[in-house]
Amino acid sequence: MKNFYRQKLQNLQENGLLRNRKTVFGPQGPHLQADGQTLLAFASNDYLGLASHPDLIRAAHEALDRYGLGAGASALISGHSEPVAQLELALASWLGQERVLHFSTGYMANLGAIPALVGEGGAVFSDALNHACLIDGIRLARPSSLTVYPHGDLARLEEGLSRCEAAEKWIITDGVFSMDGDIAPLAELVTLAERHDARVLVDDAHGFGVLGDEGRGTLSHLGLNSPRVVYMATLGKAAGVFGAFIAASAEVIEWLLQRARTYIFTTGTPPVLAAACVASLERIRQDGFRRERLKQLGRQLQEGAQGLPWKLLPSETAIHPLIVGDNFTVTRIAQALQQQGLWVPAIRPPTVPPGSARLRISLSAQHEPAHVERLLAALRSAA
Ligand SMILES: *Cc1c(COP(=O)(O)O)cnc(C)c1O
Repeated sequence: MKNFYRQKLQNLQENGLLRNRKTVFGPQGPHLQADGQTLLAFASNDYLGLASHPDLIRAAHEALDRYGLGAGASALISGHSEPVAQLELALASWLGQERVLHFSTGYMANLGAIPALVGEGGAVFSDALNHACLIDGIRLARPSSLTVYPHGDLARLEEGLSRCEAAEKWIITDGVFSMDGDIAPLAELVTLAERHDARVLVDDAHGFGVLGDEGRGTLSHLGLNSPRVVYMATLGKAAGVFGAFIAASAEVIEWLLQRARTYIFTTGTPPVLAAACVASLERIRQDGFRRERLKQLGRQLQEGAQGLPWKLLPSETAIHPLIVGDNFTVTRIAQALQQQGLWVPAIRPPTVPPGSARLRISLSAQHEPAHVERLLAALRSAA
């Protein structure tokens, strides 16, 4: 057994695919203490810089005193706490959706919701760059047919939809693609869904808080409001806390509450986390300056990266991938950056397609223009 896995690990190492963790000391922020260094980090999904915001911490302290720690049981047994109920109501009213169901994490939301939504005999159409938990949720749903269409390829998607005879069809997509930072063509996807009587599930883990009016996410950014769309987003990224939710019609949400196994058979979320999320929602809505700052930093990075030997993918979001290609080269560059006190994660297969290893530069509203300058200088010297 030991030898079996030692061999497999060695194989990963030989292909430049071994991953490792850094222990972080202290709170999230542009500067992280790790590996005995202070690192200027472009590694986090705390895009708005809310993970250590005093309002959130205060709300968590108060909730801790009032509710203690554990939720006690699953939500349907005795674990549906007042803060989670408040969070669901606040999200639904703010997003203009009939109802919201809170899940422990985004991974759990997709693993539970997709099998519950896609009925027996349902067909699924999935973008090739969808997040791992959408892929796993689709696997668990065991759809009658699965079409993985090339990233953003509407013609291929339509071809599949028009040939499909299933009673129920679902188009499943990231709203903002997690490793590419581009926005899904949701307006076109909704049009195709209308034309072919399909439904759309949007996972907006990276758009919620960052895009749209007051940070309402990718649907708002694109001015979309369709009864065919089920909206999912997470609360551990721009919201700075932990958790996730699905927003939809009252009937869809009631069905998920009855049938999503990762909702039913798991312990309720600690109330303290939901209370912090309620406070985070307030900051997301009111702090437009955080989204402004992200845009400015993004423009600065995009302009500054023009002379580099690698291609920085264009991006309107907080995610700016620098495509390097080779697994070993990307690791070498990440190490060279760390020697200069910078932390930018190297992303390799299977997270991204083979031959497209990249540095995933993620910006936060807490970064300053001087931080971006420092990153650009370090990239130039690593070239
Ligand atoms: C991070 C992520 C998730 C998972 O959310 P967690 O709350 O971290 O489990 C789901 N979908 C996408 C697109 C993500 O990037």
